Amino acid sequence: MDTNRPALPAEIARRRTFAIISHPDAGKTTLTEKFLLYGGAIQMAGQVRAKGEARRTRSDFMQMEKDRGISVSASAMSFDFKTYRFNLVDTPGHSDFSEDTYRTLTAVDAAVMVIDGAKGVESQTQKLFEVCRLRDLPILTFCNKMDREARDTFEIIDEIQENLAIDVTPASWPIGMGRDFLGCYDILNDRLELMDRADRNKVAESISLEGLDDPRMADHIPPALLEKLREEVEMARELMPALDPQSVLEGHMTPIWFGSAVNSFGVQELMNGIGTYGPEPQVQKASPREIAPEEKKVAGFVFKVQANMDPKHRDRVAFVRLASGHFERGMKLTHVRTKKPMAISNPVLFLAADRELAEEAWAGDIIGIPNHGQLRIGDTLTEGEMLKVSGIPSFAPELLQSVRAGDPMKAKHLEKALMQFAEEGAAKVFKPMIGSGYIVGVVGALQFEVLGSRIELEYGLPVRFDASQFTSARWVHGPRDAVEKFTQANKQHISYDHDGDVVYLTRLQWDIDRIERDYPDVTLSATKEMM
Ligand code: GDP
Repeated sequence: MDTNRPALPAEIARRRTFAIISHPDAGKTTLTEKFLLYGGAIQMAGQVRAKGEARRTRSDFMQMEKDRGISVSASAMSFDFKTYRFNLVDTPGHSDFSEDTYRTLTAVDAAVMVIDGAKGVESQTQKLFEVCRLRDLPILTFCNKMDREARDTFEIIDEIQENLAIDVTPASWPIGMGRDFLGCYDILNDRLELMDRADRNKVAESISLEGLDDPRMADHIPPALLEKLREEVEMARELMPALDPQSVLEGHMTPIWFGSAVNSFGVQELMNGIGTYGPEPQVQKASPREIAPEEKKVAGFVFKVQANMDPKHRDRVAFVRLASGHFERGMKLTHVRTKKPMAISNPVLFLAADRELAEEAWAGDIIGIPNHGQLRIGDTLTEGEMLKVSGIPSFAPELLQSVRAGDPMKAKHLEKALMQFAEEGAAKVFKPMIGSGYIVGVVGALQFEVLGSRIELEYGLPVRFDASQFTSARWVHGPRDAVEKFTQANKQHISYDHDGDVVYLTRLQWDIDRIERDYPDVTLSATKEMM
């Protein structure tokens, strides 16, 4: 991260765009709810909206939702906390690692890692962490469920340090645990935060202290626990590095907060931490040049496409991360892949309890753009400049199956359905050069099931998946003549993806090695950048 960058305009500088990474059951959903509670969204839900303007935009959107049958789940949520605007991007919940998860993490500037205090770093957390590490994303840690029997605090911190190879610095320190959990000592601000067990939604009592020796602590903490706390915090301060904001921004250090999401405890301290230590919107890699958030002109990229669940309509919502500028509703942007202008007249902003038409948005924000399939994952939108955001990969699928419609008369329908899912990024679809039918590729086995039931549900089309003779797919790159020559000589193995790009299918690593030897002009790659 470059420290010599100019200060961002205030509207951009206050934005924090992040995702939560965790293992199922650690408390992601609960924590999200509490974020929304403190983000004012829950009170907002019950508020009577008096302003004509607000009412109009809301009903506009509801009408649009009705007319078009768009149903968008909470893929991105925006809310304000103090002076900050938080954009929380949801990572897909199922345990199968998918490209979707990876791509979501390309749209954020930071991640909040939630771990269960009794379980520590679990498998899914580890995987997601590694994806964050690839991008040097800053990570803030929340150790949840401290109201239950948790592990020893030093042990938890050690485990994160060892397993994830990242420096950990305690931002708070728990006082007791399980039934005796009283709250935390806020190490960064020398405050005592006490949990209210009687009221789960109540903001904890917060007492300002003169440091660890402040005698007022004895009014709230029994002597044995107090002694232990003082000892532990002193030891932690000696053994562990102090919080270094730059190191956090570079992804080398993670501050850890302890709390209990279900009791709303520790959540505000974490939110303060995201505001204070979390990154502002970052520079976006693109070619032929990077895009800086403070640029006056708007640029953004599609990181997710969600198809409409209503089978009568075929509209989609493309989720766009704004990389620069100040977007206003009605703007005309250039769709770089097709070089065509696009009027963005119905963008959606996902304000926590309220989905609204986005009248405006800034670099860092996520907007939803309803469209008929023009917008695909990896597409860039600009005010005219031919920029292409990079770093949104498409992975070679690890599992391949051939697919047929239960009813052979419905082959055309099947093709349409498959193309839609390919555009959405839900699966790879390959059309073999020779023969009929399609081969579908996914990264996790669960995706076949999801795909099958969606095709049936959304297209009324029962389908059958069968084992394919192939197990690997590689995109073929090289000069046109070389690729053509290679294609003609290997017809049995060639298919085309939904963009029409040439893909080599095989079941043998040996084949791949042989081609690299026999066709030096041709390269086979396991990823392709989404176009
Ligand atoms: P997710 O799968 O990560 O989204 O986890 P959830 O938020 O759904 O939480 C999983 C379970 O843990 C639910 O039963 C929650 O009520 C419970 N839970 C979440 N936070 C806490 C906490 O701080 N303490 C306790 N005791 N339970 C919690």
